Amino acid sequence: MTEIRSRIEGVRQRIRQAAAECRREAADIRLVAVSKTRSPAEIRQAVSAGLTDFGENYLQEALPKIEALRESGICWHFIGPVQSNKTRELAAQFDWVQTVDRVRIAQRLNDQRGNQGKPLNICVQVNISREPQKAGVTPEQAPELCRLIMDMPRLRLRGLMAIPAAGDTQALRSSFESMCELYRQLQSQGLPLDTLSMGMSTDLESAVSAGSNMLRIGTDIFGPRN
Ligand SMILES: *Cc1c(COP(=O)(O)O)cnc(C)c1O
Repeated sequence: MTEIRSRIEGVRQRIRQAAAECRREAADIRLVAVSKTRSPAEIRQAVSAGLTDFGENYLQEALPKIEALRESGICWHFIGPVQSNKTRELAAQFDWVQTVDRVRIAQRLNDQRGNQGKPLNICVQVNISREPQKAGVTPEQAPELCRLIMDMPRLRLRGLMAIPAAGDTQALRSSFESMCELYRQLQSQGLPLDTLSMGMSTDLESAVSAGSNMLRIGTDIFGPRN
């Protein structure tokens, strides 16, 4: 068994355990392997261990990998900061953009997605810990941006994404819980959300227990980054 394969088995085991502890189905929790800094060969190992979803943070780094792995049928998620001069290629090459936090970016992605193929899946990034320098809308701004995206025909609004501030377990838990509360509130207002993207290598258990259904895991799948 390769190292990547056995790490993936370890992550799956943690997800099963975390789900069981809060009486959830592990199958309802989608695993996105964060492949920034990783080579196509490493990504292929993860594909052969059964992973289908991969996340990249930088467009220029991602493009050659997407090209090299074209035949793998990977579902690509963009999870880095979106610059407006990069939207054309994001709209053309990715299946998801999880880090939308401005209407202007959403509008450009919609205009540039083109009419062939499927709509681009979108998550609105929420700055849940209200950190001044951090990307993401405030929780108060999320409903309006979600509604605007819902009306864009080439985009499919899927949910919310967050990267909480580093902190102790208690602080993290409370950020994850606020995200879940916001997610449910938007659903109860009629927004068709099915994705709550939160939880990384070190905090996946807290994220699952708060209600995350999409984990973004890098280190614990591929090993430490340089
Ligand atoms: C790098 C990254 C991750 C994965 O982090 P790990 O700690 O390596 O699991 C998840 N989400 C985002 C947005 C990232 O940039």
